[in-house]
Amino acid sequence: PQNLIPPPLPQPCKISEIKHTKIFINNEWHSSLKGKTFPTFNPATGVKICEIEEADKADVDKAVDAAKAAGKRGSTWRRMDVSSRGRLLHKLADLLERDRCLLATMETMDTGKPFLQSFFVDLDGSIKTLRYYAGWADKIHGKTMPVDDNFMCFTKHEPVGVCGAIIPWNFPLLMFMWKIAPALCCGNTVVIKPAEQTPLTALYTGALIKEAGFPPGVVNIVPGFGPTAGAAIAGHMGIDKVAFTGSTEVGQLIKEAAAKSNLKRVTLELGGKNPCIVLYSFILLWAVEAQKGAFYNQGQCCTAASRVFVEECVYDEFVRLSIASAKQITAGDPMDPCTSHGPQIDQQQFDMILELVESGKREGARLECGGYALQDKALFIQPAVFSDVIDHMRLAKEEVFGPVQCIMKFKNQEEVIERANSTHYGLAAAVFTRSVERAMRVSSALEAGTVWVNCYNALHAQAPFGGYKMSGNGRELGEYALAEYSEVKAITIKLNDQLT
Ligand code: NAD
Repeated sequence: PQNLIPPPLPQPCKISEIKHTKIFINNEWHSSLKGKTFPTFNPATGVKICEIEEADKADVDKAVDAAKAAGKRGSTWRRMDVSSRGRLLHKLADLLERDRCLLATMETMDTGKPFLQSFFVDLDGSIKTLRYYAGWADKIHGKTMPVDDNFMCFTKHEPVGVCGAIIPWNFPLLMFMWKIAPALCCGNTVVIKPAEQTPLTALYTGALIKEAGFPPGVVNIVPGFGPTAGAAIAGHMGIDKVAFTGSTEVGQLIKEAAAKSNLKRVTLELGGKNPCIVLYSFILLWAVEAQKGAFYNQGQCCTAASRVFVEECVYDEFVRLSIASAKQITAGDPMDPCTSHGPQIDQQQFDMILELVESGKREGARLECGGYALQDKALFIQPAVFSDVIDHMRLAKEEVFGPVQCIMKFKNQEEVIERANSTHYGLAAAVFTRSVERAMRVSSALEAGTVWVNCYNALHAQAPFGGYKMSGNGRELGEYALAEYSEVKAITIKLNDQLT
């Protein structure tokens, strides 16, 4: 019957020209003060897309001044009704919905991720994050505390001030929204630096922020490099908080710079070496789910399922199914809706991944399939499955950030929990089992900010996300993120008599 015909798949649109390539400050487009630009490339073709104005310290200073002025007491933004603040965030979400196809196409051009993933995952998550925090804007409030003696005490939640944000290239638009949405709903102003590899959707969003009607200076976007623009944000005396997503090494630099400047608040979302535990009672065909966790976004996820522990009795069968499933993946033009696997982001990441694959072979892991460069396509790597991976190997310890599934064997539950936790990271973990009892025991014992049971990469705007140990500090998303973007003020009033 007619009503069973699925709707047509969205198609990428034609982008003939990139309009927004400059620094966005005070709702205006600015040239770099040093007069410098940098190129951004399409990783699927290696072709330069355009030149972007490069922000450096002086441009960051200018953006901070604008953000400070926009957020000072008495400003339009500070005086705006909280419900109007929520409406602005909804309006921005409406504009993302309107331009969804264009933004998804642009994201695919700049990152190489398959178009349908940009459209259904990145755009969906970005829009939902904005709507979720739009709903919070008028629900952020303090408490009244009963205190001793003749006093009354209550708390007020106030904006922290100017919030700096530094984001990576793996989910450029989504990370942009994870940073600005909670910051704005709490009444802060923002200076945000997109990754140098992927500035396009952030800058396009600048135009939407202006169109939505946010007052000038509330969001400022400074495209540029880490050691210059990024470091200027982390060490800025005028920035009150910095939120960073990226590598653990840079996370350490951010915290150091924050401590040495003005002790600004820091939230960090860093790397992971995430264990995914498959217990014998699980339906193995679902093992493919675990593999999606390893290969999603070409393996360029901080949550990637990079250590898959499989119970001994089902190990061989699991490996067999994983190989069969990996072999079905075909890399191709990310704009083609049939493509599920695109290129790595740049040469540096590409080389690092292949070097780790070589280290795996050298150290005695068994490369079952993939793990090689697809000759005709510069930055494409055929997804790899390694079996017989042992805990001491580099493959089992280092973040690969590429399409490499490492399968390891275990004998019993206590042993696997111990091994899963023996890492400095603690971002995400998963357990696959049909036993509720075992799911509860294992998920409670795992040292990770997120544990998925019988699923992988199930992220929601409503649920907190962040790491234990060296995977980060603080939480993004959900109600928990509000605390990262608010100051709490306790106001105590002396009364003549005790309140009764
Ligand atoms: P990175 O940490 O160097 O870059 C992330 C962001 O930090 C970018 O915006 C970058 O410009 C900025 N940055 C870099 N150096 C800085 C500095 N000194 N001060 C302030 N900001 C700085 O990550 P990368 O080089 O793009 O990738 C390297 C590795 O990082 C990857 O292989 C992966 O392991 C990890 N990574 C993790 C995530 C994540 O989501 N957690 C994302 C991207 C990369």
